[in-house]
Amino acid sequence: MLAELKKRIIDGQVHEVFSVPRILVVDDEPLLRDSLRDILLQNGYEASAARNGRDALVQIARQHFDAILLDLFMPDIHGTEVLDFIARRGLDTPVIVVSGDDSVDSVIDALRGGAQDFLRKPYQPDEMLKRVGNVIQRRRLELENRSVLQQMEQSEKWHRFLVNSSPDFIYTLDCEGRFTFVNDRVESLLGYKHDELLGQHYTAVIFDDDDFTHAQYVFNERRTGKRASRYVELRLKCKDCSRSNGSEGRILVVELNAIGMYEQPDNKFASRYLGTYGVAKDISERKKAEETIHYQAYHDLLTGLPNRVLFKDRLNLAIAQARRNSEMFAVMCLDMDHYKVVNETLGHDVGDELLLAVTARLHGCLREGDTLARMGGDEFCLLLPQISGIEVVGNIAEKVTVALSKPFHIDHRELFATVSIGVSLYPADGETGDSLIKHADIALYHAKTCGRDNCQLFHMGMNVPLSNRLSLENDLRHALERNQLVAYYQPQVDLKRGYIVGFECLIRWQHPVRGLVSPAEFIPLAEETGMITAIGKWMLNTACQQLKIWKTQELPPVRLAINISPRQMEQPEFVQNILDALHQHDLDQGVLEVEITENLIMKDVERTVEKLKQLSASGIKIAIDDFGTGYSSLNYLKKFPIHTIKIDQSFIADIERDGDTSIVTAIIAMAKGLHLNLIAEGVETENQLAFLRKMECDEIQGFLLSEPLTAQAATTMLIENITPLALFAGR
Ligand code: C2E
Ligand code: MG
Ligand code: MG
Repeated sequence: MLAELKKRIIDGQVHEVFSVPRILVVDDEPLLRDSLRDILLQNGYEASAARNGRDALVQIARQHFDAILLDLFMPDIHGTEVLDFIARRGLDTPVIVVSGDDSVDSVIDALRGGAQDFLRKPYQPDEMLKRVGNVIQRRRLELENRSVLQQMEQSEKWHRFLVNSSPDFIYTLDCEGRFTFVNDRVESLLGYKHDELLGQHYTAVIFDDDDFTHAQYVFNERRTGKRASRYVELRLKCKDCSRSNGSEGRILVVELNAIGMYEQPDNKFASRYLGTYGVAKDISERKKAEETIHYQAYHDLLTGLPNRVLFKDRLNLAIAQARRNSEMFAVMCLDMDHYKVVNETLGHDVGDELLLAVTARLHGCLREGDTLARMGGDEFCLLLPQISGIEVVGNIAEKVTVALSKPFHIDHRELFATVSIGVSLYPADGETGDSLIKHADIALYHAKTCGRDNCQLFHMGMNVPLSNRLSLENDLRHALERNQLVAYYQPQVDLKRGYIVGFECLIRWQHPVRGLVSPAEFIPLAEETGMITAIGKWMLNTACQQLKIWKTQELPPVRLAINISPRQMEQPEFVQNILDALHQHDLDQGVLEVEITENLIMKDVERTVEKLKQLSASGIKIAIDDFGTGYSSLNYLKKFPIHTIKIDQSFIADIERDGDTSIVTAIIAMAKGLHLNLIAEGVETENQLAFLRKMECDEIQGFLLSEPLTAQAATTMLIENITPLALFAGR
């Protein structure tokens, strides 16, 4: 037995380290004690002896024994007191009581006191060895058991730890679909306390009916292995989901793997189904990222509006629906007028804010079901499904115009934004998305050329002018060398004295086929293509030649004003060109005025101001054209070397149209405060004239006095220097 024990010890089955069992023999009879010890030693035990009870206590306190043979009756201390001592110390050393007293009471007492066995004197050595072997074996088994139990406890703790610290929600359900286990993660993911969910049916965590069929499948999974449910996407409902206000609460998007559980997992056919085991992985973050990517692919990031791709998608849907129901719908292309100027002069931040503000106002004009998309830059597209007639489109265009008519307040500035609109209709103007957009775009181009801020409906005739534009561009390239450009001169008259004090030079293009083309038609094209610098130079020289002719004819000295485009101003040699032209023609600097717009100044304030200062220092006058329509304020402009303000004709027209004189009055007051020369443009009626005279406006220009004239007609008028105003002056 001992040999077997040793073997097991060596095999490592018993964890407590003891090599040879050590036995203590406690007996006051020396003969018996020694013989007992000798037998034990001979049988491979390690044996110690205690002469009496006290000696026994000392030895027990000092070292560990694997078993004790204890005499009960000893002269100093009774064996039961030794048992007490062992019990008090919490030692689990097995004790075999050896006694000559075989009364039942003493045996019971000893066993109650913690003894493991009883051996009556006199005994046979074999009997004694058998008993000793037994207690040691029992103790060994106990130790083994304890160790296995500890291992199991440790392993269970370890598994529990792993399951609970998993980032996933892990659960088991019984056959009826009720939770029998949920890991701790349930609290942070679903908001349930561990115990709240136990016993509940899995439907408690299903988000809504849409997920129900899917959920049913996975939560009742009976299959195992490869066929079991894997990566099933589901929405789970968190505990705080149904809020008092009825709004949707938190949802957890998970990817669920589930398998059936069986009594004998290896043989599920022969064993009982216990329920389902599942692991739900939180994929909310991944979903969010996917949604963001999806959103970005179909939306414009600045405004949050659908982008071109999504718009086309909606357009195709609208076509399918309209075809099915024989309906009509409209595509509206909207382009902000002069947005480029805002961006370039005030910066992209202001440009972006203006776009956002415009988007918000456009939104206010939409019906439910309409789609507003940003196609890029300042271009929007509007899809108006199910329209009953063309008047609906007109109404919406009108609504848009009205909505944008009020100024925008951005970055302490007052900005105005108008849009040009082109419209195409399904099915009349196209039956595919691309043709509808293309035709709305052509109509938009027409709206732009018709002076912007208006709406044009596509018609087939419009296809022509687009190709026209190309030929116009080609023709314009030859206009200069073929001498087709002509300067016209519109008189500017001093209101007090009634005499012509200057002319504005206005360009015309004598086109061989089209006739006299107005600058409104080709100046934007010349600006776009860069031809404006050559044209501007031509105008400068023509104006100087004309001044020289008048000087030679000794006519009264007058001022000539020329219009300057932003691109001309950008030329590094801009100032020098003007000075050279005046010098070449032997002219005074004071006879030339350059007209620039507010936006031109704002475009590159520092460099522009530098050039304006150089011009002004040389005696050349500077006028702000179309004043009041740009993005600057007079206050701001007072920093610049300006001589003249030209009040825009739209304000002069207001005087006549609705008697609104407030802006003109304000501009006149401000200009006077800054001692600037004031010219009112576009004066067409006596009413306007009377008002301007009353306001003591310095000069006027307009059809009332004269339209722009050829050089010859202007010369005649100058020679006579009799203007209609001179006639009015007398009245
Ligand atoms: P602008 O400089 O504001 O010129 C005034 C415009 O108003 C001219 O149009 C003129 O004919 C028109 N006008 C004058 N009096 C009246 C009136 O009583 N009623 C109305 N309704 N209109 C009046 P135009 O000649 O067609 O020129 C248009 C614009 O083209 C000019 O506006 C100017 O910005 C530009 N432009 C003209 N010539 C040149 C040029 O040589 N170079 C550059 N860069 N631009 C030019
Ligand atoms: Mg002008
Ligand atoms: Mg003007």
